[in-house]
Amino acid sequence: MSAIASNLQAVRARIADAAKAAGRLPESIQLLAVSKTWPLACVLEAADAGQTAFGENYVQEGVDKVMALPQGHFQRAAVNRQIDWHFIGPLQSNKTRLVAEHFNWVHSIERLKIAERLSAQRPASLPPLQVCIQINVSGEASKSGCAPDATLALCQAIVALPNLQLRGLMAIPEPADDFAAQRVPFRQLREIYENIRAAGRPLDTLSMGMSHDLEAAIAEGATIVRIGTAIFGERNYA
Ligand SMILES: *Cc1c(COP(=O)(O)O)cnc(C)c1O
Repeated sequence: MSAIASNLQAVRARIADAAKAAGRLPESIQLLAVSKTWPLACVLEAADAGQTAFGENYVQEGVDKVMALPQGHFQRAAVNRQIDWHFIGPLQSNKTRLVAEHFNWVHSIERLKIAERLSAQRPASLPPLQVCIQINVSGEASKSGCAPDATLALCQAIVALPNLQLRGLMAIPEPADDFAAQRVPFRQLREIYENIRAAGRPLDTLSMGMSHDLEAAIAEGATIVRIGTAIFGERNYA
């Protein structure tokens, strides 16, 4: 078994254990493999091991990988499965067209202008772009993300856009070592999510949890965990 295949197996086991501990079904949590900085060969290796959803942070790098797989399908005999590409990185308005044309999902919408451009630029031949709003929960590492008290208004504006389907919320909390501390910002995100659902918006996605804190995220209700290092290894940005 390749290193990526055995890492994937270990991550799936962590997800299953965390789900069980939380009294949840493992199938209710989707594993997004974050392939940023890793070459296409690594994506193919993960796909051979059954992985179908990949996350990218940098627009051009992501588009290059998507384009290397025509129609979003693998052309190889071994894998002929639909691959879903998720854009999870910071998105500037001059890059929205590439994302609208090449990705299935965007997790990192933080303002209406970006959402409007993505909707306007989504090709009519493609299904609606699936989107999450990135929230700046307390202790956020960066200053990015929508303020919690502005989230409901942004949701209401996004659901009116024709070529986007609003699915949920995403956050990237500051890393913490302790399980209880890791849960705090995830719980905050879940509470915002539940308030928005109570206000009548049919969200179904909580994108939270990375290699070091996926258990805490699953304990707080994550439906997508975004895992890079634990699958592909330590990234080298050089
Ligand atoms: C890089 C990245 C990940 C993956 O992080 P790991 O710690 O390598 O699992 C997840 N989400 C976002 C937004 C990222 O930028």
